[in-house]
Amino acid sequence: MSEQPPPQSPESAPLDKDDDWGYDLYPERRGEKVPVKWWQVAFFGGGQTNTERTTCERNVYNCFENSPLVKLMYSALKSSGCEIDLRRHIACEVCDVKVSGGYDPRLNQIVVCQNMARSKGMVQAILVHEMIHMFDNCRHELDFKNVHHLACTEIRAANLTHCSFMSAMAQGDASPFRIKQQHAECVKTKAMGSVLAVRPDISKEEARAAVDKVFNKCYNDLEPIGRRVRRNSPDMMRAYGERGNYGYE
Ligand SMILES: [Zn+2]
Repeated sequence: MSEQPPPQSPESAPLDKDDDWGYDLYPERRGEKVPVKWWQVAFFGGGQTNTERTTCERNVYNCFENSPLVKLMYSALKSSGCEIDLRRHIACEVCDVKVSGGYDPRLNQIVVCQNMARSKGMVQAILVHEMIHMFDNCRHELDFKNVHHLACTEIRAANLTHCSFMSAMAQGDASPFRIKQQHAECVKTKAMGSVLAVRPDISKEEARAAVDKVFNKCYNDLEPIGRRVRRNSPDMMRAYGERGNYGYE
């Protein structure tokens, strides 16, 4: 569910095997205030937690007002019986620097990492990604401890947003076939990274096997966006405009 590559570095905190939800990446989930390192204060303006939170919350609110994709996901969730209440379901928090966002299936809450996601564009990307997890959970009652369920929802999130943006940027000299291949590879790599970030207890090979096993089915499931969205293309607006086709208001 996380946005960033796997925390394989030796200094990453070990997770409790029985509680492998990736919450060590979200220390505020356990009620801890994250200590601010002196260099963060000196160079990155860390420490200013309240300002960060306000900025983050303003960006979240702005996305719900103005982002076609966020609004589309909001409609899809609402039509599926899982309406989002901003104050209840979205939280701006300080996270481990390895992640920029997350979805907490136990509380049905999206975490936006205020210390990592500093721009509106990044907040939008996180919201859409995590809202796809929320949508999958709403539709299918996912078991996030089941690695195949996890792999599937990460494939869908990477497919519908992240990798589509990347492929659009790489489009210059590549043939359509190569783009398709690159896109699928991008989704696999990104999904594997996300699975490993949440499940440091499994090996890279196990993560890849899980992704491969469910890949075709989950890669071709484009609900609720209906297409792979390309950056700077009319796809974003079109997807929002056509939401009626999928039964969303
Ligand atoms: Zn994810």
